[in-house]
Amino acid sequence: LGILHTSHGDVVTPTLVPVATQGTIKTLWTRPVELTKTQLVIANTFHLHLKPGEKIVQNMGGLHEYMRWPHPIMTDSAGYQVFSLGFGSDLQLGKIMRKKSSKGLVQLHQQPQRVKITERGVFFRSPVDGRRLFIGPRESMQIQAKLGADIAFAFDECTPPVASKAYTRQSLERTHRWAVDSLAYRDPKQALYGIVQGGRFKDLRKKSSQFVAKLPFDGFGIGGEFGANKQSMIDMLALVLKELPATKPRHLLGIGHLDDIPRIIKRGVDTFDCIVPTHLARRGIAFTRTNASDGRLDLNRAVFLRDKRPLDRHCGCFVCADYTRSYLSHLYKSREITALSLITFHNLFLFNTYVEQLREQIARGKL
Ligand SMILES: [Zn+2]
Repeated sequence: LGILHTSHGDVVTPTLVPVATQGTIKTLWTRPVELTKTQLVIANTFHLHLKPGEKIVQNMGGLHEYMRWPHPIMTDSAGYQVFSLGFGSDLQLGKIMRKKSSKGLVQLHQQPQRVKITERGVFFRSPVDGRRLFIGPRESMQIQAKLGADIAFAFDECTPPVASKAYTRQSLERTHRWAVDSLAYRDPKQALYGIVQGGRFKDLRKKSSQFVAKLPFDGFGIGGEFGANKQSMIDMLALVLKELPATKPRHLLGIGHLDDIPRIIKRGVDTFDCIVPTHLARRGIAFTRTNASDGRLDLNRAVFLRDKRPLDRHCGCFVCADYTRSYLSHLYKSREITALSLITFHNLFLFNTYVEQLREQIARGKL
């Protein structure tokens, strides 16, 4: 358990950090997001740089004022988008490796097709209008300073899950140099987190944790891909967290299915961002903790049209108090946009309540 003090209030940890990519939790606005017990959100540096541009956000009073969210905000480093525009797009990959056979596809000195990675940073074309753009540690720090979040992240390269060890090592050394540069260009008004990379290689992960832990960061992000399955993710996480000082906050970037949450918290993760509750809500997936089938209700299924029950009878959110599965399924299948707001609200409330209960268990010595 911990308390993260920021100039926009305290965050009790461990906690989920919902994703506000463009400066909003998709389908919701500030008041309902507050009612989901959300304490802290993470906005996307890369997307806000493209649209509307950090200068506009700065001129509008910064991100807190712009999105009317008076609570703490993080912005990511833009490193993940470098990956997804580059090798991620070339190889049609997500961050998590699915096929073992694709191991070692990215070799030393290889460059992605649409992105050029150099020592200073990354050249790429804007996916919005084709402009040639460049982001390095200095640019990432300058963009994040103008956005004005409470917590910024050092610029990094998130290596593809299929990268060879030689490629991952080379990338890691570059990410470490960028970590030092990010500290030099940081805005002292913001907290800055360093990022641990190293892909699925234990020795590289350890090396990265030790390197980043020694630098004067305010906290740490753990990025990238950890291996082929959840157990290897947990093992790797334990290895990384052992090297990072327990007195500083540790953030796990981009992972947090419902069943992962107690496991990552047990290992010592303080905050974690995850698109699962919001992204899947917009695909008609509602989460429940009372249903046996891995906690998911697929409201696309016709069976729910005859279901009078709430999404989760123990949930306590207004969606569960007021609406049946039948009605929500009907709205979703009829492409009513209200369905997306209601399911998003419920999913966030359920995830946040779950983490709140885990905090209570920790307080009672039961986790
Ligand atoms: Zn609910």
